[in-house]
Amino acid sequence: MRRNLPSSRRLAEWDHTYLWHPFTQMQEWVTEPPLIIQRGRGPYVVDTEGRRYLDGVSSLWVNVHGHRHPALDRALREQLRQIAHSTLLGLSNPPAICLARELVRIAPKGLTRVFFSDDGSTAVEVALKMAVQYWQQRAPQPRRGPSRKRAFVHLQLSYHGDTVGAMSVGGIDLFHKRFRPLLFPSLAVEPPYCYRCPLGLSYPACAMACLDPVEDLLKRRHREIAGLVIEPLMQAAAGMITAPPGYLSRIRELCTKYEVLLIADEVATGFGRTGRMFACDHEQVTPDLMALSKGLTGGYLPLGATLATEEMYRAFLGRYEDWKTFFHGHSYTGNPLGCAVALASLEVFRRERTLGRVRRGVAALRRFLRPVARLPHVGQVRQCGYMIGIELVEDRKTRKPYAPSARVGHRVSLEARRRRLLTRPLGNVVVLMPPLITSVAELKRMVQILREAIQTVTEAEGAPGLAPFGSV
Ligand code: PMP
Repeated sequence: MRRNLPSSRRLAEWDHTYLWHPFTQMQEWVTEPPLIIQRGRGPYVVDTEGRRYLDGVSSLWVNVHGHRHPALDRALREQLRQIAHSTLLGLSNPPAICLARELVRIAPKGLTRVFFSDDGSTAVEVALKMAVQYWQQRAPQPRRGPSRKRAFVHLQLSYHGDTVGAMSVGGIDLFHKRFRPLLFPSLAVEPPYCYRCPLGLSYPACAMACLDPVEDLLKRRHREIAGLVIEPLMQAAAGMITAPPGYLSRIRELCTKYEVLLIADEVATGFGRTGRMFACDHEQVTPDLMALSKGLTGGYLPLGATLATEEMYRAFLGRYEDWKTFFHGHSYTGNPLGCAVALASLEVFRRERTLGRVRRGVAALRRFLRPVARLPHVGQVRQCGYMIGIELVEDRKTRKPYAPSARVGHRVSLEARRRRLLTRPLGNVVVLMPPLITSVAELKRMVQILREAIQTVTEAEGAPGLAPFGSV
């Protein structure tokens, strides 16, 4: 590839002529030459001009063990010698079988069945459809008649993907509002955004009063609610909003009490990102359904998985003509290449004791971030393991946010890029989500660069009035 690679200038020209980039205002995009990444190793990526950058957002939250990990590369090569793809519809394949077994082994106790799909959005779609069908097929309850449970509860500001079902349970107006006519109605509750508490309270004195309206809703309408969808511990795309300790387990209790399925979207939080294998592990919570993707393959290939309890699974059993089958499946479901590299990734977790290393890194990051939290325009630094959000504010005392048109997050990421760190903001929230193999020295460098970039942007006089811009 290297030998035949067109020049950077030619590639830039073709990029501007043929590509339509996701979550990107293309009118603006084509005014600058694109940064074109050609290769990578460990926590670094390298552009077509040979410039090396620290990958501060793990190539959009997916990379786990670094780029070009030898064990993951080898697993892919070995699988390629067997077969690149075969279907799970009516057939099976060794990597999908072995990966399902491994996922059940490491998942929260009680999740026993694995349904593969393609990415985070489809893993969520599968969970939503399973939940609705489950209630239709669950053993009939005496005197209750057919189930009316088909509604969902979600948290405001949540993000579960860009497909129609996943958007329906999403709560980011900028992304979802214009599609409302296409989406099914879902019941929204306030998120535990303590820095900007919707109830005007403060933690822990509040005793998590934000859960009272959740309980009230479940109590009143549980007969029509199939499930509650949540990103455990950390609403990532919302701006790295961390839930207070105990919030998730209270949600679990409420779901159990009111017979509502708990659907955990661990697409972003899964695979060590929060310091444990899954965010649910922090509070020993077993959801009824769990959506996985991103880090599942170590960040190598797209693959999604929805894990279900045995109780869920059994509701789909019956004779063929009972039509209890889960009629859902994508062409690439259980793709052997993706499953083989995912298996290798889980093996690396064990062999390299990745989670132990992460625990040390988390403590180091916390130390490095302390001076950042004291910067005059940093409202709050939120950290859950290797997921970090730095919320920038115009006024620290009043917590007044910067106007979206000031695009401070975007400008900080441009400054960071000049200093050779790649990051991507969420509005006014600067994001850091390094690969789990990043060394302590590299973590320190990443935070140092962010600090300089934040200072440069927030100390600059005024902000150019550019169009509002959202990014995931
Ligand atoms: N759920 C969460 C929590 C996510 O963060 C994302 C992606 N950022 C998704 C679902 C959707 O995943 P994908 O982009 O792979 O469809």
